Amino acid sequence: MTAVVIDGKQIAQALRAGWKPRADRLNALGIAPGLAVVMVGDNPASQIYVRNKIRACHEIGIRSEEHLLAGDSSLATVLALIDRLNADAAVHGVLVQLPLPPQLAPHAVIERIDPAKDVDGLHTANLGSLLAGHPRFLPCTPAGIMELLKTTGVDLRGKEAVVAGRSNIVGKPVALLLTQAGATVTLCHSQTRDLAHHTLRADVLVCAIGKPHAFGGEMIKHGAVVIDVGINRAPDGRLVGDVDYGAARQRAGWITPVPGGVGPMTIAMLLGNAVLSAERHAAAQGVK
Ligand code: NDP
Repeated sequence: MTAVVIDGKQIAQALRAGWKPRADRLNALGIAPGLAVVMVGDNPASQIYVRNKIRACHEIGIRSEEHLLAGDSSLATVLALIDRLNADAAVHGVLVQLPLPPQLAPHAVIERIDPAKDVDGLHTANLGSLLAGHPRFLPCTPAGIMELLKTTGVDLRGKEAVVAGRSNIVGKPVALLLTQAGATVTLCHSQTRDLAHHTLRADVLVCAIGKPHAFGGEMIKHGAVVIDVGINRAPDGRLVGDVDYGAARQRAGWITPVPGGVGPMTIAMLLGNAVLSAERHAAAQGVK
């Protein structure tokens, strides 16, 4: 069996094409959807991610502003900037690019974002409403993964889903979304005994541990849907996922490539959340 490749780039493109008319409409009403991206320090990978997000905003008519702070900025400096963005009516989404330098606890920074502008969906108020089943903003990567799964046509109800990785950004929320979609979910992490025992049962396998090629073909159930979230730099400089793509492709039914799988979806969902936030702002202002 050779897996069907889930083309995240194309799926993300189609979603973005759907957000554009909504952004156009807001712009025509005089409410330019606005996204503020905060970056602290000059992490090269973050610079690339931020550049891609800004470019994507521009393409669909979202006004973006980039706020670059020095790598040795204090917590007080970062929080003061977030307070300013929270208070700015022209900003509908505030995103803090992670990782942050070691002196800044991510939790303290993210908690300062107004939950109504938390387009990454990582504030505890937003994670809490996701847990309770009425999310305000879905976290971007997990939401993107669910969109990718939709395109396979696989009915998730009653399926065995295994998520490897339990971060707040990816693993935990995707496990919740899969549960809400009716799958029976196992959440694995670094203390899981015998990872392969679990992955071999998975009709849907989401790999998000950040370890290059940690999931070999022998760990994949025949016909499974394999979503590779990992982005790792190989010694030769190439980007590779957590899954051994060549081997897994011979066993899986569907598989996402790296790059071109989950990554573009994360950006598409961010744009969608920014448009949604601006629409809510317009509605609150009585602008129709
Ligand atoms: P974190 O480092 O926050 O979390 C990694 C998780 O993997 C932890 O829960 C850890 O367990 C678990 N883990 C580590 N090693 C193993 C192992 N050998 N077996 C089982 N579990 C293990 O990473 P993120 O969730 O932020 O990111 C994961 C990957 O996804 C990274 O490669 C990242 O670059 C990528 N990513 C990609 C995105 C995209 O848009 N495509 C977006 C976000 C992330 P424990 O909790 O016990 O430590």
